[in-house]
Amino acid sequence: MAFKDFIFRKSLWLFHFGGASCNNCDIEILDCLTPRYDVERFGMLLVGSIRHADVLLVNGSINHKDKERLLELYRQAPKPILVVAIGACGCTGGIFAGGYPFAGPVDQIIPVDAYIPGCPPKPEAILSGIVQLIEKKKTEKAHA
Ligand code: SF4
Repeated sequence: MAFKDFIFRKSLWLFHFGGASCNNCDIEILDCLTPRYDVERFGMLLVGSIRHADVLLVNGSINHKDKERLLELYRQAPKPILVVAIGACGCTGGIFAGGYPFAGPVDQIIPVDAYIPGCPPKPEAILSGIVQLIEKKKTEKAHA
């Protein structure tokens, strides 16, 4: 199936996984849901189960315990799933990279489709990143 067929079949539902972090990125992601930014106007909805999600948002540094959970979430996710790494920690490990609990950047654990850097990224950057990802994926084939 072409990705554009998948992407426009229905609204994108998002599942949020936060690794070990300072929680500022979590707050900015939740800010996207507030009336001020209103991500639901794009049809996007934050869901409570990865089994209902089209997009997996990952922020925070991934430690060894997080790594097991992230792998399990990815295994349980319906495919194709888009993965977005959010924040410096999600993209590279940020200030936590190299620490003894650090298990590696998100993209060394599961495939990542888009990176939204920042510490933390603003809600506008998060929304822009997701919309750009959708635009990019319109022309690509889905990956299982
Ligand atoms: S990227 Fe910055 S704001 Fe986000 S979790 Fe890491 S330290 Fe906190």
